[in-house]
Amino acid sequence: MSDLRDHAEDIHEQFSDHIDIDVDDVEERLNTLVDEYKVPLDEARRSVTSHYLDEAGMERDALGGGSGSNDHVQVADVDEDEQWIDVTAKVVDLWDARSDAVAQVGLLGDESGTIKFTAFASSDLPKLEEGAVYALGNLVTDEYQGDYSVKLNRTTTIEQLDEDIEVGDDSTTVEGALVAMQSGSGLIKRCPEEDCTRVLQNGRCSEHGEVEGEFDLRIKGVVDDGIDAHEVIFDKETTEAITGISLEEAKDMAMDALDTTVVADEIRDLVIGTYYRVSGPTFGRYVLADDVEQLSEPVDATAALERARSM
Ligand SMILES: [Zn+2]
Repeated sequence: MSDLRDHAEDIHEQFSDHIDIDVDDVEERLNTLVDEYKVPLDEARRSVTSHYLDEAGMERDALGGGSGSNDHVQVADVDEDEQWIDVTAKVVDLWDARSDAVAQVGLLGDESGTIKFTAFASSDLPKLEEGAVYALGNLVTDEYQGDYSVKLNRTTTIEQLDEDIEVGDDSTTVEGALVAMQSGSGLIKRCPEEDCTRVLQNGRCSEHGEVEGEFDLRIKGVVDDGIDAHEVIFDKETTEAITGISLEEAKDMAMDALDTTVVADEIRDLVIGTYYRVSGPTFGRYVLADDVEQLSEPVDATAALERARSM
């Protein structure tokens, strides 16, 4: 009997964070299967676990998170995909969900910085309120192009706390010469599917296949501060600001040349060797340029690099 009790407590432990579950009830179910129906113990465990998975509306792999065994992490420390974590965070911002599948999307913040979160409609969770602080259990991390986010799911526990958090500023400032431009810069096309925006490769989205893309302008550049090389993404607004080329002009240029690469070539000529002060949030290995200040006229890139190295 005591053996069954141990197994019952094990199962109880796995579910206690997710559903209201009574350890005696678990033991009775095991007992019925093992004693009355002579089901082998491991099979009985599987069967009873399945019963509670159904009751909780959970997938079996959701137990992989192991309630209570997650690391409690700071949001700025999230740097791995598909990790089960707990965080204590403030809802800094709520955005409009662009898909019916998404119940809520926004920004969570703690002392270390901020991270995007998504809650899916199918998870049927209570809505988070902007400005409120929550202890969130059983979140799953997600990574897309070096950009980390967390997903709430149906096993996520939400406890509102009566406290405030001073949300940390995770923006970074980099000052140096733009020494290189990476592929995927210039006039690009993005997937038009809701909540996708992936950059198309030869007219194909890695998720949605062949799609009619939407034009966008950006620079993926390398800014060298003399010590380190920082990868910086300039979005449409900052790219237009530092190059003086608008998205419309870029499209015209590409149309005239029947080639989009002319835009990247033109941009390269304009920005390489120029010193910038760039500030913005970091996502993965990239600094997203929110604020850009040009510190010099373009100089010879090699000379700029040498000067940067000698600073
Ligand atoms: Zn797509």
